[in-house]
Amino acid sequence: MSWEEMVLETKPCWCGKGTITYRMEMDDWNRTQNSREINCPACLEKENSEKARKQREEKRKAIHEKAKDLAAQRHLEYWLSLYSGLNKKAAWQLYTSGKDYPSLGTFYKHTKDEGLQNYMRRFFLSDFEDALKKMNIIDLEIKELLNERERI
Ligand SMILES: [Zn+2]
Repeated sequence: MSWEEMVLETKPCWCGKGTITYRMEMDDWNRTQNSREINCPACLEKENSEKARKQREEKRKAIHEKAKDLAAQRHLEYWLSLYSGLNKKAAWQLYTSGKDYPSLGTFYKHTKDEGLQNYMRRFFLSDFEDALKKMNIIDLEIKELLNERERI
């Protein structure tokens, strides 16, 4: 199997002080691969720092997911139990302390559409940090994960 160069094109780089060479290659099965070579120190550094930023972002996301899984395993059941058996107004009062978003009307609408349990589950999963805060739960392992994420 061999790659054959189909396109080789050199264009000015993003800042205009150097060039970027774009290469497109094709193999015997018409599969293509693209690569580029940045011939400009400034643009190369920008590209590398962007890559590093993306990697950091991915790591942060992975840690956040891990913390969320832990939170769900340990605290979701308790969270749901707080709301089970409450009527919607009492649930809203507990959820918002009667002041925050969402309004009572919005809360009614959401819980009517998807059911109180589903809504509370969704809320927990979309912002477990806030849910833990509302329950006054301090989970040291989760806290450590979130701190770790901040340090990345
Ligand atoms: Zn450049």
